[in-house]
Amino acid sequence: MNYQSFEEAKIKCTSCFIGKYYNVVVPSDGCKTNPIVLIVGEAPGISEVESLKPFVGKSGKLLRATLNQFGYRKSNSLITNTIPCRPENNEFPKDNSLVMSCVHQWLHKEIEITKPKYMLLIGATPTRFLLSLTGITHLRGQWADYNGVPCLPTYHPAYVLRKEHMEDDQQIKNEDRKSVV
Ligand code: URA
Repeated sequence: MNYQSFEEAKIKCTSCFIGKYYNVVVPSDGCKTNPIVLIVGEAPGISEVESLKPFVGKSGKLLRATLNQFGYRKSNSLITNTIPCRPENNEFPKDNSLVMSCVHQWLHKEIEITKPKYMLLIGATPTRFLLSLTGITHLRGQWADYNGVPCLPTYHPAYVLRKEHMEDDQQIKNEDRKSVV
């Protein structure tokens, strides 16, 4: 199967309630043959569904800017998600078997067709579903293997942004405390 027929089939997928409910599959973005790196996120959000492109919201902008700094762009890398539809209420499905069958039908096949040199696993979800490993705090930055493809799990940019925000809040609180004392 070539990428074009794979993508045409994926876009029409209605095999589970995730697809049926939203009926919008967000296609992958970038280089579809031998990308240097395949970046695997969790699932599209509302901005991604509206623009039919993965990682275009706030955390997507941070991810894309970071990738750019390291020389990864559309011409040499591919961005995809563990599941290609936006889950109900933006909550990743708790039904593992449902996710597994989606991953089996699309993500595994996408890796097989595109043959990336490396994979960057964005957060706990792709790490869990591709490597069957949990505990992103310990796993991030440690190389792992997926069927011969070296994979690097890392934090999700949404987590990085939340953490920065919490640290800013804490700093403001500390400053407030100082001004009271
Ligand atoms: N978060 C993800 O994991 N994927 C996207 O496409 C957007 C945000």
